[in-house]
Amino acid sequence: MAEHRQRPAILVGALTGRSHHVLLAGGGHAHAVALRHLAKKPPSPGVTLTLVAPSTHNLYSGALPGVIAGHWTADAIGVPLEPLCAAAGVSFVQDSITSIDAGANTVHLASGNTLSFDLASLDVGSGIRRLDIAGSDDRLVPIRPIEPFLLKWQKTIDKARGADTPPSIVVVGAGLAGIEVALAIKFRLEEEGFPDARVHLVDAGSSIASSNSPTLRRKLKRALDRANITLCLHARVQSIDAGSVSLSTGETLKSALVVNCAGSAPHGWIGESALATTQGRIDVDPCLRSTSHPNVWAAGDTSYFTADPLEPAGVFAVRAGPVIAENIRRWSQEFPLTQFDPQSDYLKLVSLGEKKAIAEKFGITVEGGWVWKLKKAIDFSFLREHSLPARN
Ligand SMILES: Cc1cc2nc3c(=O)[nH]c(=O)nc-3n(C[C@H](O)[C@H](O)[C@H](O)COP(=O)(O)OP(=O)(O)OC[C@H]3O[C@@H](n4cnc5c(N)ncnc54)[C@H](O)[C@@H]3O)c2cc1C
Repeated sequence: MAEHRQRPAILVGALTGRSHHVLLAGGGHAHAVALRHLAKKPPSPGVTLTLVAPSTHNLYSGALPGVIAGHWTADAIGVPLEPLCAAAGVSFVQDSITSIDAGANTVHLASGNTLSFDLASLDVGSGIRRLDIAGSDDRLVPIRPIEPFLLKWQKTIDKARGADTPPSIVVVGAGLAGIEVALAIKFRLEEEGFPDARVHLVDAGSSIASSNSPTLRRKLKRALDRANITLCLHARVQSIDAGSVSLSTGETLKSALVVNCAGSAPHGWIGESALATTQGRIDVDPCLRSTSHPNVWAAGDTSYFTADPLEPAGVFAVRAGPVIAENIRRWSQEFPLTQFDPQSDYLKLVSLGEKKAIAEKFGITVEGGWVWKLKKAIDFSFLREHSLPARN
Protein backbone atom coordinates (compact mmCIF):
# COMPACT_ATOMS: atom_id res chain seq x y z
CA MET A 1 0.00 0.00 0.00
CA ALA A 2 1.39 3.42 -0.89
CA GLU A 3 0.77 5.83 2.00
CA HIS A 4 -0.68 9.31 1.42
CA ARG A 5 -0.22 12.35 3.63
CA GLN A 6 -3.08 12.49 6.15
CA ARG A 7 -5.23 15.45 7.08
CA PRO A 8 -7.39 15.82 10.21
CA ALA A 9 -10.36 13.47 10.40
CA ILE A 10 -13.83 14.75 9.53
CA LEU A 11 -16.24 11.87 9.99
CA VAL A 12 -18.45 11.13 7.00
CA GLY A 13 -21.91 12.36 7.94
CA ALA A 14 -20.58 14.27 10.95
CA LEU A 15 -22.17 17.49 9.68
CA THR A 16 -25.50 15.94 8.71
CA GLY A 17 -25.67 13.27 11.41
CA ARG A 18 -26.78 10.81 8.69
CA SER A 19 -25.36 7.30 8.76
CA HIS A 20 -23.54 6.31 5.57
CA HIS A 21 -24.02 2.96 3.92
CA VAL A 22 -21.19 0.95 2.40
CA LEU A 23 -22.26 -1.95 0.21
CA LEU A 24 -19.80 -4.82 -0.17
CA ALA A 25 -20.98 -6.61 -3.32
CA GLY A 26 -19.76 -10.23 -3.44
CA GLY A 27 -17.83 -12.26 -0.91
CA GLY A 28 -14.78 -13.07 -3.00
CA HIS A 29 -11.15 -13.31 -1.93
CA ALA A 30 -10.74 -9.51 -1.71
CA HIS A 31 -13.77 -8.92 0.52
CA ALA A 32 -12.97 -11.90 2.76
CA VAL A 33 -9.58 -10.33 3.48
CA ALA A 34 -11.12 -6.85 3.84
CA LEU A 35 -13.67 -8.18 6.39
CA ARG A 36 -10.91 -9.69 8.49
CA HIS A 37 -9.07 -6.34 8.49
CA LEU A 38 -12.26 -4.37 9.25
CA ALA A 39 -12.92 -6.65 12.23
CA LYS A 40 -9.55 -5.65 13.67
CA LYS A 41 -9.85 -1.95 12.82
CA PRO A 42 -13.40 -0.78 12.11
CA PRO A 43 -14.43 2.38 10.21
CA SER A 44 -16.10 5.39 11.88
CA PRO A 45 -19.24 4.68 13.92
CA GLY A 46 -21.40 6.63 11.43
CA VAL A 47 -20.89 3.96 8.77
CA THR A 48 -23.06 0.87 8.28
CA LEU A 49 -21.91 -1.96 6.06
CA THR A 50 -23.79 -4.70 4.19
CA LEU A 51 -22.32 -7.62 2.26
CA VAL A 52 -24.42 -9.23 -0.48
CA ALA A 53 -23.42 -12.67 -1.76
CA PRO A 54 -25.41 -15.50 -3.34
CA SER A 55 -23.96 -18.10 -1.00
CA THR A 56 -22.95 -18.23 2.66
CA HIS A 57 -19.56 -19.70 1.66
CA ASN A 58 -17.07 -18.58 -0.96
CA LEU A 59 -15.24 -21.57 -2.41
CA TYR A 60 -11.49 -20.99 -2.62
CA SER A 61 -10.61 -21.75 -6.24
CA GLY A 62 -6.88 -22.39 -5.64
CA ALA A 63 -7.84 -25.54 -3.70
CA LEU A 64 -10.55 -26.63 -6.18
CA PRO A 65 -8.30 -29.01 -8.17
CA GLY A 66 -7.71 -30.88 -4.88
CA VAL A 67 -11.49 -31.38 -4.52
CA ILE A 68 -11.75 -32.64 -8.12
CA ALA A 69 -8.81 -35.00 -7.52
CA GLY A 70 -10.41 -36.26 -4.30
CA HIS A 71 -7.62 -35.07 -1.97
CA TRP A 72 -10.19 -33.19 0.15
CA THR A 73 -13.89 -32.36 0.05
CA ALA A 74 -15.67 -29.17 -1.03
CA ASP A 75 -16.56 -28.46 2.63
CA ALA A 76 -12.85 -27.97 3.33
CA ILE A 77 -12.45 -25.10 0.84
CA GLY A 78 -15.38 -22.84 1.74
CA VAL A 79 -14.77 -19.49 3.42
CA PRO A 80 -17.80 -18.96 5.70
CA LEU A 81 -18.90 -15.37 5.08
CA GLU A 82 -21.43 -14.90 7.91
CA PRO A 83 -18.94 -15.21 10.81
CA LEU A 84 -16.50 -12.88 9.01
CA CYS A 85 -19.33 -10.35 8.58
CA ALA A 86 -20.44 -10.73 12.20
CA ALA A 87 -16.90 -10.11 13.46
CA ALA A 88 -16.64 -6.94 11.36
CA GLY A 89 -20.12 -5.66 12.28
CA VAL A 90 -21.31 -6.09 8.68
CA SER A 91 -24.87 -7.23 7.84
CA PHE A 92 -24.96 -10.28 5.58
CA VAL A 93 -27.63 -10.52 2.86
CA GLN A 94 -27.84 -13.74 0.87
CA ASP A 95 -28.86 -12.57 -2.60
CA SER A 96 -27.41 -11.85 -6.06
CA ILE A 97 -26.94 -8.49 -7.65
CA THR A 98 -28.58 -8.35 -11.05
CA SER A 99 -27.79 -4.74 -11.98
CA ILE A 100 -26.11 -1.61 -10.68
CA ASP A 101 -27.16 1.98 -11.28
CA ALA A 102 -23.94 3.78 -10.43
CA GLY A 103 -25.53 7.20 -11.05
CA ALA A 104 -28.45 6.57 -8.68
CA ASN A 105 -26.29 4.65 -6.13
CA THR A 106 -28.50 1.56 -6.17
CA VAL A 107 -28.21 -2.14 -6.91
CA HIS A 108 -31.06 -4.46 -7.85
CA LEU A 109 -31.13 -7.94 -6.41
CA ALA A 110 -32.44 -11.27 -7.73
CA SER A 111 -35.02 -11.25 -4.90
CA GLY A 112 -36.56 -8.11 -6.45
CA ASN A 113 -35.22 -5.88 -3.66
CA THR A 114 -33.22 -2.71 -4.25
CA LEU A 115 -30.36 -1.57 -2.03
CA SER A 116 -29.02 1.95 -2.01
CA PHE A 117 -25.49 2.87 -1.03
CA ASP A 118 -23.22 5.82 -0.49
CA LEU A 119 -20.23 3.72 -1.46
CA ALA A 120 -20.18 0.31 -3.17
CA SER A 121 -17.16 -2.00 -3.38
CA LEU A 122 -17.55 -4.73 -5.99
CA ASP A 123 -15.74 -8.06 -5.63
CA VAL A 124 -18.07 -10.35 -7.56
CA GLY A 125 -15.35 -12.31 -9.37
CA SER A 126 -16.04 -13.51 -12.89
CA GLY A 127 -17.71 -16.27 -14.82
CA ILE A 128 -16.27 -18.34 -17.66
CA ARG A 129 -16.18 -17.20 -21.28
CA ARG A 130 -19.12 -18.68 -23.14
CA LEU A 131 -18.18 -20.48 -26.31
CA ASP A 132 -20.18 -19.67 -29.38
CA ILE A 133 -21.56 -23.12 -30.08
CA ALA A 134 -24.98 -23.05 -31.67
CA GLY A 135 -27.58 -25.00 -29.74
CA SER A 136 -25.23 -26.87 -27.43
CA ASP A 137 -23.71 -24.26 -25.15
CA ASP A 138 -25.74 -25.46 -22.16
CA ARG A 139 -24.06 -28.88 -22.40
CA LEU A 140 -20.74 -27.24 -21.58
CA VAL A 141 -20.25 -27.17 -17.82
CA PRO A 142 -18.36 -24.04 -16.78
CA ILE A 143 -15.81 -24.53 -14.01
CA ARG A 144 -17.36 -21.45 -12.37
CA PRO A 145 -19.70 -21.02 -10.53
CA ILE A 146 -17.92 -23.80 -8.66
CA GLU A 147 -20.85 -25.38 -6.75
CA PRO A 148 -22.89 -26.45 -9.83
CA PHE A 149 -19.71 -27.73 -11.50
CA LEU A 150 -18.90 -29.91 -8.47
CA LEU A 151 -22.43 -31.36 -8.49
CA LYS A 152 -22.04 -32.33 -12.18
CA TRP A 153 -18.58 -33.79 -11.49
CA GLN A 154 -19.93 -35.93 -8.64
CA LYS A 155 -22.80 -37.13 -10.87
CA THR A 156 -20.30 -38.05 -13.60
CA ILE A 157 -18.27 -40.13 -11.14
CA ASP A 158 -21.40 -41.84 -9.76
CA LYS A 159 -22.56 -42.69 -13.29
CA ALA A 160 -19.12 -44.01 -14.26
CA ARG A 161 -19.13 -46.36 -11.24
CA GLY A 162 -22.18 -48.14 -12.63
CA ALA A 163 -21.01 -48.25 -16.27
CA ASP A 164 -19.14 -50.98 -18.18
CA THR A 165 -16.85 -48.69 -20.17
CA PRO A 166 -14.33 -46.22 -18.71
CA PRO A 167 -15.50 -42.58 -18.94
CA SER A 168 -14.17 -39.99 -21.40
CA ILE A 169 -14.00 -36.34 -20.36
CA VAL A 170 -13.25 -33.26 -22.45
CA VAL A 171 -11.77 -30.10 -20.91
CA VAL A 172 -11.91 -26.99 -23.09
CA GLY A 173 -9.16 -24.39 -22.55
CA ALA A 174 -5.49 -25.25 -21.99
CA GLY A 175 -4.61 -22.34 -19.72
CA LEU A 176 -3.31 -23.00 -16.20
CA ALA A 177 -6.81 -23.64 -14.80
CA GLY A 178 -7.75 -26.02 -17.64
CA ILE A 179 -4.49 -27.95 -17.25
CA GLU A 180 -4.92 -28.26 -13.46
CA VAL A 181 -8.53 -29.39 -13.91
CA ALA A 182 -7.67 -31.96 -16.62
CA LEU A 183 -4.86 -33.43 -14.49
CA ALA A 184 -7.10 -33.55 -11.41
CA ILE A 185 -9.89 -35.27 -13.37
CA LYS A 186 -7.51 -37.89 -14.78
CA PHE A 187 -5.99 -38.56 -11.37
CA ARG A 188 -9.42 -38.97 -9.76
CA LEU A 189 -10.68 -41.32 -12.46
CA GLU A 190 -7.62 -43.52 -12.01
CA GLU A 191 -8.14 -43.50 -8.24
CA GLU A 192 -11.76 -44.52 -8.86
CA GLY A 193 -10.49 -47.59 -10.71
CA PHE A 194 -10.57 -46.36 -14.33
CA PRO A 195 -6.94 -46.51 -15.54
CA ASP A 196 -8.24 -46.46 -19.13
CA ALA A 197 -10.37 -43.33 -18.70
CA ARG A 198 -9.72 -40.82 -21.50
CA VAL A 199 -9.23 -37.10 -20.90
CA HIS A 200 -8.87 -34.71 -23.84
CA LEU A 201 -7.67 -31.14 -23.39
CA VAL A 202 -8.88 -28.98 -26.28
CA ASP A 203 -7.61 -25.51 -27.17
CA ALA A 204 -7.93 -23.31 -30.25
CA GLY A 205 -4.39 -21.96 -29.78
CA SER A 206 -1.06 -23.38 -30.84
CA SER A 207 0.35 -24.04 -27.35
CA ILE A 208 -0.70 -24.74 -23.78
CA ALA A 209 -0.53 -22.06 -21.03
CA SER A 210 0.54 -19.62 -23.73
CA SER A 211 1.09 -16.59 -21.45
CA ASN A 212 3.58 -18.51 -19.28
CA SER A 213 7.33 -19.14 -19.46
CA PRO A 214 8.71 -21.81 -21.83
CA THR A 215 10.08 -23.76 -18.82
CA LEU A 216 6.70 -23.86 -17.08
CA ARG A 217 5.00 -24.85 -20.34
CA ARG A 218 7.52 -27.64 -20.91
CA LYS A 219 7.01 -29.04 -17.41
CA LEU A 220 3.24 -28.87 -17.78
CA LYS A 221 3.39 -30.64 -21.14
CA ARG A 222 5.46 -33.42 -19.54
CA ALA A 223 2.90 -33.74 -16.74
CA LEU A 224 0.07 -34.02 -19.29
CA ASP A 225 2.02 -36.67 -21.22
CA ARG A 226 2.77 -38.63 -18.03
CA ALA A 227 -0.93 -38.59 -17.17
CA ASN A 228 -1.77 -39.77 -20.68
CA ILE A 229 -3.99 -36.76 -21.40
CA THR A 230 -4.57 -36.18 -25.10
CA LEU A 231 -3.90 -32.62 -26.20
CA CYS A 232 -5.96 -31.28 -29.13
CA LEU A 233 -4.47 -27.94 -30.20
CA HIS A 234 -5.66 -25.72 -33.08
CA ALA A 235 -9.07 -27.22 -32.33
CA ARG A 236 -12.38 -25.48 -31.66
CA VAL A 237 -15.45 -27.16 -30.26
CA GLN A 238 -18.07 -27.02 -33.01
CA SER A 239 -20.92 -28.95 -31.50
CA ILE A 240 -21.75 -31.00 -28.45
CA ASP A 241 -24.29 -33.79 -28.64
CA ALA A 242 -25.36 -36.16 -25.91
CA GLY A 243 -22.12 -38.05 -25.24
CA SER A 244 -19.86 -36.59 -27.94
CA VAL A 245 -18.00 -33.44 -28.97
CA SER A 246 -17.17 -32.47 -32.57
CA LEU A 247 -14.03 -30.43 -33.17
CA SER A 248 -13.11 -28.11 -36.04
CA THR A 249 -10.30 -30.58 -36.89
CA GLY A 250 -12.92 -33.13 -37.91
CA GLU A 251 -12.38 -35.30 -34.82
CA THR A 252 -15.31 -36.50 -32.72
CA LEU A 253 -14.55 -37.20 -29.05
CA LYS A 254 -16.71 -39.31 -26.76
CA SER A 255 -17.52 -37.37 -23.64
CA ALA A 256 -19.46 -37.95 -20.44
CA LEU A 257 -18.68 -34.38 -19.34
CA VAL A 258 -17.42 -31.29 -21.18
CA VAL A 259 -15.81 -28.78 -18.82
CA ASN A 260 -15.43 -25.18 -19.92
CA CYS A 261 -12.16 -23.64 -18.67
CA ALA A 262 -11.88 -21.24 -21.62
CA GLY A 263 -10.83 -18.23 -19.55
CA SER A 264 -12.62 -15.85 -17.22
CA ALA A 265 -15.39 -13.56 -18.43
CA PRO A 266 -16.97 -10.67 -16.54
CA HIS A 267 -20.60 -10.69 -15.43
CA GLY A 268 -22.89 -9.24 -18.13
CA TRP A 269 -24.67 -6.84 -15.75
CA ILE A 270 -21.42 -4.95 -15.18
CA GLY A 271 -20.93 -4.33 -18.89
CA GLU A 272 -24.56 -3.21 -19.14
CA SER A 273 -24.09 -0.55 -16.43
CA ALA A 274 -22.86 3.01 -16.98
CA LEU A 275 -19.51 2.17 -15.35
CA ALA A 276 -16.45 2.60 -17.56
CA THR A 277 -15.12 -0.87 -18.38
CA THR A 278 -12.39 -2.59 -20.36
CA GLN A 279 -13.35 -6.03 -21.66
CA GLY A 280 -16.30 -5.92 -19.27
CA ARG A 281 -14.15 -5.33 -16.17
CA ILE A 282 -14.56 -2.09 -14.21
CA ASP A 283 -11.80 0.45 -14.95
CA VAL A 284 -10.29 1.43 -11.61
CA ASP A 285 -7.69 4.02 -10.64
CA PRO A 286 -4.73 3.29 -8.32
CA CYS A 287 -7.08 3.63 -5.28
CA LEU A 288 -9.40 0.96 -6.81
CA ARG A 289 -12.13 3.57 -7.54
CA SER A 290 -14.12 3.39 -10.75
CA THR A 291 -12.64 5.92 -13.16
CA SER A 292 -16.16 7.00 -14.19
CA HIS A 293 -18.04 6.71 -10.86
CA PRO A 294 -15.73 7.18 -7.83
CA ASN A 295 -18.57 6.11 -5.49
CA VAL A 296 -18.07 2.58 -6.88
CA TRP A 297 -14.89 0.64 -6.16
CA ALA A 298 -13.86 -2.70 -7.59
CA ALA A 299 -11.21 -5.35 -6.94
CA GLY A 300 -10.19 -8.82 -8.06
CA ASP A 301 -11.47 -10.29 -11.33
CA THR A 302 -14.25 -7.66 -11.40
CA SER A 303 -11.75 -4.83 -11.88
CA TYR A 304 -9.43 -3.58 -14.60
CA PHE A 305 -6.47 -1.88 -12.92
CA THR A 306 -5.80 0.86 -15.46
CA ALA A 307 -2.39 1.89 -14.05
CA ASP A 308 -0.94 -1.59 -14.62
CA PRO A 309 -3.41 -4.12 -16.08
CA LEU A 310 -3.31 -7.37 -14.10
CA GLU A 311 -4.32 -10.86 -15.12
CA PRO A 312 -7.41 -12.14 -13.29
CA ALA A 313 -5.80 -14.10 -10.43
CA GLY A 314 -6.80 -14.76 -6.85
CA VAL A 315 -3.45 -13.49 -5.63
CA PHE A 316 -4.26 -9.91 -6.77
CA ALA A 317 -7.73 -10.09 -5.22
CA VAL A 318 -6.20 -11.17 -1.90
CA ARG A 319 -3.68 -8.32 -2.02
CA ALA A 320 -6.46 -5.79 -2.68
CA GLY A 321 -8.31 -6.81 0.52
CA PRO A 322 -6.29 -4.73 3.02
CA VAL A 323 -6.46 -1.70 0.67
CA ILE A 324 -10.27 -1.91 0.54
CA ALA A 325 -10.51 -2.09 4.35
CA GLU A 326 -8.06 0.77 4.85
CA ASN A 327 -9.82 2.92 2.25
CA ILE A 328 -13.26 2.34 3.76
CA ARG A 329 -11.83 3.65 7.04
CA ARG A 330 -10.18 6.60 5.28
CA TRP A 331 -13.34 7.35 3.28
CA SER A 332 -15.35 7.31 6.52
CA GLN A 333 -12.98 9.90 7.98
CA GLU A 334 -12.66 11.87 4.75
CA PHE A 335 -8.94 11.14 4.62
CA PRO A 336 -7.22 10.78 1.24
CA LEU A 337 -7.30 7.19 0.02
CA THR A 338 -4.30 4.91 -0.14
CA GLN A 339 -3.16 3.26 -3.37
CA PHE A 340 -3.02 -0.39 -4.40
CA ASP A 341 0.51 -1.40 -5.24
CA PRO A 342 0.37 -4.96 -6.61
CA GLN A 343 3.73 -6.66 -7.08
CA SER A 344 3.96 -7.74 -10.70
CA ASP A 345 5.65 -11.07 -9.94
CA TYR A 346 4.08 -13.64 -7.67
CA LEU A 347 4.57 -17.27 -6.72
CA LYS A 348 2.71 -19.35 -9.31
CA LEU A 349 1.71 -22.76 -8.00
CA VAL A 350 0.15 -25.33 -10.31
CA SER A 351 -1.03 -28.68 -8.95
CA LEU A 352 -0.57 -31.77 -11.12
CA GLY A 353 -3.47 -34.03 -10.10
CA GLU A 354 -1.28 -36.42 -8.13
CA LYS A 355 0.36 -35.00 -4.98
CA LYS A 356 2.90 -33.00 -6.97
CA ALA A 357 2.98 -29.39 -8.09
CA ILE A 358 5.09 -26.89 -10.03
CA ALA A 359 6.13 -23.53 -8.59
CA GLU A 360 7.53 -20.57 -10.47
CA LYS A 361 8.81 -17.19 -9.33
CA PHE A 362 11.55 -14.81 -10.52
CA GLY A 363 12.09 -17.08 -13.53
CA ILE A 364 12.92 -20.11 -11.34
CA THR A 365 10.72 -23.17 -11.86
CA VAL A 366 10.70 -26.17 -9.50
CA GLU A 367 8.56 -29.28 -9.32
CA GLY A 368 7.88 -32.08 -6.85
CA GLY A 369 5.92 -33.51 -3.96
CA TRP A 370 7.30 -30.88 -1.59
CA VAL A 371 5.90 -28.12 -3.86
CA TRP A 372 2.44 -29.71 -3.59
CA LYS A 373 2.82 -29.72 0.22
CA LEU A 374 3.86 -26.06 0.10
CA LYS A 375 0.82 -25.17 -2.05
CA LYS A 376 -1.45 -27.10 0.30
CA ALA A 377 0.06 -25.30 3.32
CA ILE A 378 -0.43 -21.86 1.70
CA ASP A 379 -4.00 -22.57 0.56
CA PHE A 380 -5.12 -24.04 3.87
CA SER A 381 -3.44 -21.33 5.90
CA PHE A 382 -5.61 -18.79 3.99
CA LEU A 383 -8.67 -20.92 4.63
CA ARG A 384 -7.88 -21.29 8.35
CA GLU A 385 -7.26 -17.56 8.76
CA HIS A 386 -10.62 -16.73 7.16
CA SER A 387 -12.74 -19.47 8.74
CA LEU A 388 -14.04 -17.97 11.95
CA PRO A 389 -16.35 -20.08 14.11
CA ALA A 390 -20.06 -19.26 13.66
CA ARG A 391 -21.57 -17.13 16.44
CA ASN A 392 -24.81 -18.31 18.00
C1 LIG B 1 -9.56 -24.14 -11.30
C2 LIG B 1 -9.04 -22.78 -10.96
C3 LIG B 1 -7.87 -22.67 -10.23
C4 LIG B 1 -7.36 -21.41 -9.92
N1 LIG B 1 -6.19 -21.35 -9.21
C5 LIG B 1 -5.67 -20.15 -8.90
C6 LIG B 1 -4.46 -20.08 -8.16
O1 LIG B 1 -3.86 -21.10 -7.78
N2 LIG B 1 -3.96 -18.84 -7.88
C7 LIG B 1 -4.59 -17.69 -8.29
O2 LIG B 1 -4.09 -16.59 -8.02
N3 LIG B 1 -5.74 -17.73 -9.00
C8 LIG B 1 -6.31 -18.93 -9.31
N4 LIG B 1 -7.47 -18.98 -10.03
C9 LIG B 1 -8.14 -17.71 -10.40
C10 LIG B 1 -9.00 -17.26 -9.22
O3 LIG B 1 -10.04 -18.18 -9.05
C11 LIG B 1 -9.69 -15.92 -9.42
O4 LIG B 1 -8.81 -14.99 -9.96
C12 LIG B 1 -10.21 -15.44 -8.06
O5 LIG B 1 -11.24 -16.29 -7.62
C13 LIG B 1 -10.71 -14.03 -8.12
O6 LIG B 1 -11.11 -13.65 -6.84
P1 LIG B 1 -12.22 -12.55 -6.67
O7 LIG B 1 -12.10 -12.00 -5.29
O8 LIG B 1 -12.16 -11.58 -7.79
O9 LIG B 1 -13.60 -13.32 -6.83
P2 LIG B 1 -14.06 -14.74 -6.26
O10 LIG B 1 -13.21 -15.20 -5.16
O11 LIG B 1 -14.27 -15.62 -7.44
O12 LIG B 1 -15.46 -14.41 -5.61
C14 LIG B 1 -16.53 -13.79 -6.25
C15 LIG B 1 -17.68 -13.77 -5.29
O13 LIG B 1 -18.73 -12.97 -5.82
C16 LIG B 1 -19.95 -13.64 -5.67
N5 LIG B 1 -20.84 -13.21 -6.73
C17 LIG B 1 -20.82 -13.59 -8.02
N6 LIG B 1 -21.82 -12.98 -8.68
C18 LIG B 1 -22.46 -12.21 -7.79
C19 LIG B 1 -23.58 -11.35 -7.87
N7 LIG B 1 -24.25 -11.18 -9.01
N8 LIG B 1 -23.99 -10.70 -6.75
C20 LIG B 1 -23.32 -10.87 -5.58
N9 LIG B 1 -22.26 -11.68 -5.46
C21 LIG B 1 -21.84 -12.33 -6.54
C22 LIG B 1 -19.58 -15.12 -5.77
O14 LIG B 1 -20.55 -15.94 -5.22
C23 LIG B 1 -18.28 -15.13 -5.00
O15 LIG B 1 -18.52 -15.24 -3.63
C24 LIG B 1 -8.03 -20.23 -10.35
C25 LIG B 1 -9.21 -20.33 -11.07
C26 LIG B 1 -9.73 -21.59 -11.37
C27 LIG B 1 -11.01 -21.67 -12.17
